[in-house]
Order: sequence, then structure tokens, then C-alpha cells
Amino acid sequence: MSKTWRERSAKVQVKESDLPSSIPPQTGLVFNIWYNKWSQGQGGQSRFVSPFRLDPKLHSGKTLGDKQETQFFCLYFAKGMCCLGKKCQYMHHVPENEDMLRLAAKTDVLDCFGREKFAFYRDDMAGVGSFRKHNKTLYVGGISSALGNRPLKSNQIENRIRFLFSELGEIDKLHYLESKNCAFIKFKRQCNAEFAKEVVANQSLLIPSDREWEERLQLTGLQVKWAHDDPNPRAKREEEEEKRQETLDLMVHLLDKSNETQAAEEVKKGENESAEEKHGRIFSGEVLNKLRKRKTNFKSENAKEKRQKTEEPQKASLVDYPSSSSEDE
Ligand SMILES: [Zn+2]
Repeated sequence: MSKTWRERSAKVQVKESDLPSSIPPQTGLVFNIWYNKWSQGQGGQSRFVSPFRLDPKLHSGKTLGDKQETQFFCLYFAKGMCCLGKKCQYMHHVPENEDMLRLAAKTDVLDCFGREKFAFYRDDMAGVGSFRKHNKTLYVGGISSALGNRPLKSNQIENRIRFLFSELGEIDKLHYLESKNCAFIKFKRQCNAEFAKEVVANQSLLIPSDREWEERLQLTGLQVKWAHDDPNPRAKREEEEEKRQETLDLMVHLLDKSNETQAAEEVKKGENESAEEKHGRIFSGEVLNKLRKRKTNFKSENAKEKRQKTEEPQKASLVDYPSSSSEDE
């Protein structure tokens, strides 16, 4: 991702006076009202193209939110229409690995914008998401109408979709299904999927050099929803692997942080720490090393299994995956 957002202040994306008056003020967490009003259009009937659009390279930057160490991203920024710029209390950049680690403790109940997740997905899979499930895959529909039915080759369309999403996080997999007029995009991190879902909803796939560009606001925009589970057992297993890897990464990150703080305190205290105090530490270096080792073992195990899979694909699907209990004893 762009490395420069940290070195500059966030830009004002739209002047307040240019915003339609129906938009609720940016103070507070009035996201649901906002969401219902904008994300899928009124009553889900029309998906008009949003006149605003996030340009991550141009708009990203530091905000008050970074100073105050908020964990959440600005929903208005994602939609390309935050009029607060550097004064915004939420973050104005595309989620990065560090953000994911900070968010991780809360992502089960809150999304990256700080909105509560519900126990179940809305029937149309369009809502904030569910805290019962870890989902990184988006369904993107309405592709040909978002292109104004412009005749493009399948690979040209796929390239446009890839370009649009690749600016919003690391993509794991992308499938464009021309016959179904839709695409599935799986991100490496859930927070990027949450973020991209808001950025791309109701956007056009046209670019300024297209003849239809000027009329794009009269067309219908992209429809973005959470994708349903991939019923393929291998996909399920891969997902479990990923989840465990993330948990381990998070634990090591937290322990590292905690040890850093302790080390800093020790330096302050000098060498006066008694044996008892040393004994009473929550995380000993030993524990951390064990975890680190486990993390490396886990990684090499995964690599081994992946190799097996490619060498003997039929057999590999019959191999029993080690139960998760060995990881969280
Ligand atoms: Zn903002």
C-alpha cells in the first residue's frame, strides 16, 4: 500500500457545502441511518452510482484519529466524502496489517468502522456482517450495468475489477464469472473486505476515458455483498488454517507488545528489580519463545501440506487435518 499516507495530513474529500443535505452530520456513530440510506439505495430497489469515490492514493493521510489512536476507519472516507480531512476522529487510510492486529480483539463484534455486527447476516447478505463467521470474500454483482453495457472483453472487465479492488487491500483470489455477470473477491484480511465493501458499493466500473463516463451517474452501480460459504471442504479447511495462523500472529504481536512495555519499565527501574518481581511477570521470555517456535512450526507444517496437495491432489484431500486442540492447549 501507499507508504506515504503517514507522512502527510489527510485531504478534505468534499466540501461540506457540496454534500447533499440529507446526509447526517459526521459526529457520533450514526452509521446505520447512513447505511440504510446509501449503501443499497432506498429499500434496495435502485443502486444509483455514487457521485463520490475514494481515491486511496490521493485522499489517504493522517487524521486526529491516528493521534488519538482510534481503532476505527472513517466510513465517510471509504465512500469518498469525508469533509473533515485531518480533523476527522477516524482513520483515513486503507487498512494495513498493523490495523488488523489492533482491530483483532474487537473484530468479532465490531467491523472496521466500529459498527456492531449482527448474529446473523441479513437475508440478502448485504449487511454489516456476522460475528459468528469470519468472512473475507465479497460477491460483486451488476457488473455489466456498472459498465453502462460497454462491450469489453472478459479479461478487460476482470482487469478493471482487479484494479478497483487491489487498491483496497491485498487480494487472495479473484474470480470473474462472465456468464453470471458477477465476481468473487477474497481478501487476505477481513478488515480489507469490510472496508472494500463500503468503498465499492454503488460505484461505476467506467473510467474517464470511456465515452459513457459523463453519463455514469444515471447508470446503476456495483452491488456488493458478503459471499456465501464455499461448500468445498478444502476451502473450509484452508479457512480454518488461516484463522489459526491469524490467532497465532495476534498472540505473538500482543506478547511482543507486552514485553516491550515491560522492558521499557525495567530500564526505568534500573537493576533494582528483585527476584520475586521477575518471577511475577505475566509473560516470560520463555513463553514467548515457545509461541514463536510454534508459529514457525505451524508455518512449515502448512507449507508441507500445501506441497503434498499439489503433488497428490486426490490423496491430499483424504489426509486428516490435525485437530485444532493441539494449538490452543
Ligand atoms: Zn473522516
